[in-house]
Amino acid sequence: MKKKVAFYWCASCGGCEEAVVDLAEFLLDALEQIEIVFWPVAMDFKIEDVEQLTDGEIFASFINGAVLLSDQEEVVRLLRRKSQVVVAFGSCSHQGGVPGLINTHDRQDVFDYYYHNGPTVQRNGNEMPTPTGAKAFHVALPEYYGKARPLNQVIEVDYYIPGCAPPPNVVKDALLQLLSDSPPPRGTVLAGAHSLCSECPLNETKPPEGFKIKQFVRPSQVTHIDPDTCLLMQGLPCLGPVTRSGCNALCIKGHMPCTGCFGPLDGVRDFGAAALSFLASLIDSNDEAEIQRIIDEGLPDPLGTFYMYSFPGSLLNEVLQKGRQKARAWREREETVEAQTTENQ
Ligand code: SF4
Ligand code: SF4
Repeated sequence: MKKKVAFYWCASCGGCEEAVVDLAEFLLDALEQIEIVFWPVAMDFKIEDVEQLTDGEIFASFINGAVLLSDQEEVVRLLRRKSQVVVAFGSCSHQGGVPGLINTHDRQDVFDYYYHNGPTVQRNGNEMPTPTGAKAFHVALPEYYGKARPLNQVIEVDYYIPGCAPPPNVVKDALLQLLSDSPPPRGTVLAGAHSLCSECPLNETKPPEGFKIKQFVRPSQVTHIDPDTCLLMQGLPCLGPVTRSGCNALCIKGHMPCTGCFGPLDGVRDFGAAALSFLASLIDSNDEAEIQRIIDEGLPDPLGTFYMYSFPGSLLNEVLQKGRQKARAWREREETVEAQTTENQ
């Protein structure tokens, strides 16, 4: 009997769907063993088709994208119930990914930008799309939660396939491991166990005694990249030393520094903090003003550099969300007091 498999996307750019298609001929081989029962991007199955399956009837669901909307949450909960195994597929599902940077803004700011103040928006009153407002037009709109969550903050996840998007060799190996008679322990990130440097062809160019950096440069500022020297030694902020291996250093081979899409190594709680701490340890200065200058000039977007894929699962996000909750509670108390004062007058 073929094993039933589902694919689903949440807040996603579609790149992870392409990653499945990138399996090319292997996808045809895999279809000897699997039967796709749900894949909204590519095939005409409906939610009702999934609902009709018995619980656990799907062998594995591969879910990409961060969870940002109520309909996404409903579908992933349904897939969890129907699946023996749930795989967070790609950086957005694994760690929150690029859409997770939306968590740095509050819900109202996002709506204001997209519906009122954005440079390409024609201002038209204060209208906002809301699920209740949409009902008047007989349209169902999902609720926007105001923050993106990696899959494991919504449902239990059994395995992770990292990458933005996961390269074909990683997806293929992961599929083979899951279909084998001895799958890896639940919770495993199905990629390399060591840092990217361990598989990078430029690793040997690093001096054994270590090195320091006087200046960081962005790839767009560099007129010449030496293809035979570690990119980090050239001042490019390569996050390979703190990023999980498995991609075969694809970006490095294209002369671009690693931006960390494979996420942290086992045991690291906050990828961005680990990356920041590592790069900071390389700065060749003890002078505060000089360190600040090196950072300002070479790392103008620290959040985007260190948390491009991992913000929603980070400690920094927890602190930010707790701060927001406190500020909201404080504002509500103030408003209540103000209303009572007005009422008493
Ligand atoms: S992990 Fe990358 S490729 Fe996949 S959906 Fe997110 S942004 Fe797109
Ligand atoms: S720091 Fe980057 S370029 Fe240097 S060896 Fe590691 S992965 Fe390769």
